[in-house]
Amino acid sequence: MSTVEELKLRVRELENELIKCKQKQQQCSSSEDALIQATNRPKIDKMSAEVVDSNPYSRLMALKRMGIVEDYEKIRTFTVAVVGVGGVGSVTAEMLTRCGIGKLLLFDYDKVELANMNRLFFQPHQAGLSKVEAAEHTLRNINPDVVFETHNYNITTMQNFTHFMDRISNGGLEEGNPVDLVLSCVDNFEARMAINTACNELGQIWMESGVSENAVSGHIQLINPGETACFACAPPLVVAANIDEKTLKREGVCAASLPTTMGVVAGLLVQNVLKYLLKFGKVSYYLGYNAMQDFFPSMAMKANPQCHDRHCRRQQEEYTKKEMERPKEVFVQEEEEEIVHEENDWGIELVSEVTDEELQPASGTVPDLPEGITVAYTIPAEESAGGEVVEETEQSLEDLMAQMKKL
Ligand SMILES: [Zn+2]
Repeated sequence: MSTVEELKLRVRELENELIKCKQKQQQCSSSEDALIQATNRPKIDKMSAEVVDSNPYSRLMALKRMGIVEDYEKIRTFTVAVVGVGGVGSVTAEMLTRCGIGKLLLFDYDKVELANMNRLFFQPHQAGLSKVEAAEHTLRNINPDVVFETHNYNITTMQNFTHFMDRISNGGLEEGNPVDLVLSCVDNFEARMAINTACNELGQIWMESGVSENAVSGHIQLINPGETACFACAPPLVVAANIDEKTLKREGVCAASLPTTMGVVAGLLVQNVLKYLLKFGKVSYYLGYNAMQDFFPSMAMKANPQCHDRHCRRQQEEYTKKEMERPKEVFVQEEEEEIVHEENDWGIELVSEVTDEELQPASGTVPDLPEGITVAYTIPAEESAGGEVVEETEQSLEDLMAQMKKL
């Protein structure tokens, strides 16, 4: 009866066995690895700012001494879950590891492939290993102070989704506590929606990241359930490509990817994570990157009261309640951010195909978007909305005609 389960378990055992073998092989075959073994440091109890060559945290602790970050050591108390350990996720995990994050949870069902070698982080000898286990091995070597928890599964299946929710709620540094932040580094809509659903239900703050299929634009986005727009509130925001769409979709051509764009997006993501966790600088709600023009549009979008996700609507009610009780601060300054670039020496224009006026009745739930940002797809205008527009026009025309008659 339980043969499938048994086989799955056996496969897992054999995979682990294979990892151990490959690791041993690596350690024996290369003198460089022997050196890594030799320099592999013991765990460090307390971060120090002492400027000695043997201190891996001196440069990070200098942030505190220079007054950029008030309490850098606090980083060790945080847990971050990274969903998707591919082009962006693996680099994100590495950056957080090097920064000395307390705990990392890694979720991915994929294996390392040679086709991924145009990207950073993974190495050819890891081909065939699961991404999470290969990543854990490398990251543990880089910083043994970080606690790792890996899950080699697809979060979108029902059983795994339940487990994923449980680990987000209880997988903090101290078991039973929720994680501090969830990072979405996945490459498909289904997985993003799964993260969105989980975080809405749990009221879990998360950050989303994405890179376009043509590899020349990307974005990061902070989603605070109840405050900012979730993935069910409005079509996902993407950076306007300004490239003929016909050149993008050709049969037999896979998605493009560049280590540069992925590295930039991972950098933007982790920068936002550090600012959010360590409370310095301005945390971005949405930051885009257009590699063709070197343009970084930013914006903030509030949650939609008509969101299809009931947990999002519940979070909105709770957020409004909390906002009423607390003195005004957070969102006000964000609205000023609508002005994207003051300087435009080269006269670069990012022109939308539709005017703002046309956009409004076409998609009522999507607010004004600053230059350079567009939606991944548009929701067809509702019939009632269309009717209203026609009525308004007729009325004003009648008014005009009445006025003309009087003349
Ligand atoms: Zn929503």
